Amino acid sequence: MGKIIAITNQKGGVGKTTSTVNLGASLAQLGNKVLLVDIDPQGNATSGVGINKGDMDQCVYNILVEDLDAKEVCIPTDVENLSIIPATIQLAGAEIELVPTISREVKLKKSLDAIKHNFDYILIDCPPSLGLLTINALTSADSVLIPVQCEYYALEGLSQLLNTIRLVQKHLNKQLMIEGVLLTMLDARTNLGIQVIEEVKMYFQDKVYKSIIPRNIRLGEAPSHGQPITVYDPKSKGAEVYLELAKEVMEVGETVR
Ligand code: ADP
Ligand code: MG
Repeated sequence: MGKIIAITNQKGGVGKTTSTVNLGASLAQLGNKVLLVDIDPQGNATSGVGINKGDMDQCVYNILVEDLDAKEVCIPTDVENLSIIPATIQLAGAEIELVPTISREVKLKKSLDAIKHNFDYILIDCPPSLGLLTINALTSADSVLIPVQCEYYALEGLSQLLNTIRLVQKHLNKQLMIEGVLLTMLDARTNLGIQVIEEVKMYFQDKVYKSIIPRNIRLGEAPSHGQPITVYDPKSKGAEVYLELAKEVMEVGETVR
């Protein structure tokens, strides 16, 4: 049965999408069957794996708002073992359209439950907010992976996220766990990065992954080529560390963190 991991942080630009695409592609490279679910109306994970959003008639919107089966919307990518449920700009309306509907928080869960057995990992790329789309992701997920950028105010806003996770645990998804905290965009030339690492480790202790994603130009370039780093530049430092992270995620699955 596939493990569903929501990649969440309501701050924008912290590396959610980059981590979803590249952790997903690395897990796929290691032989896992991986599904990415893009629930950010910006659709950056979708374009990041080379899918042209303009060509799509259907996306995750149709699952959430029209109860379409996930398998109808799930498409393969050019990367072996890697599929995606894409997002288009149509999704921007979903947050409001869902408000008056019954069981609005469990729409995604119901749909993913039906295809979960086809995959080893399902990674959900969340939007930069704690609204209904993110709640749907947290309700569907077995666990949450939180990317934290190695920058000033790294921990800012995280108590809000942890509160939301607690509320979801209480009312919608008792099993929800924290999978891990991923430090991203480390600039090794500055002391600031080291300070942030210490601070985040104090707060999250052994939940912090050993793999720390460096700021890496190739990681920033890959999306404009519609390729994960495993394809765009498999020898880059970025590719190397995301592969290490994938191994860590697989190990954590075997022991309980
Ligand atoms: P989020 O999904 O949290 O908004 P993104 O993954 O889209 O964040 O990252 C924000 C921007 O930073 C993007 O332009 C992305 O290409 C770039 N980026 C992300 N991680 C790295 C990295 N490790 N090194 C260099 N650029 C990165
Ligand atoms: Mg994003």
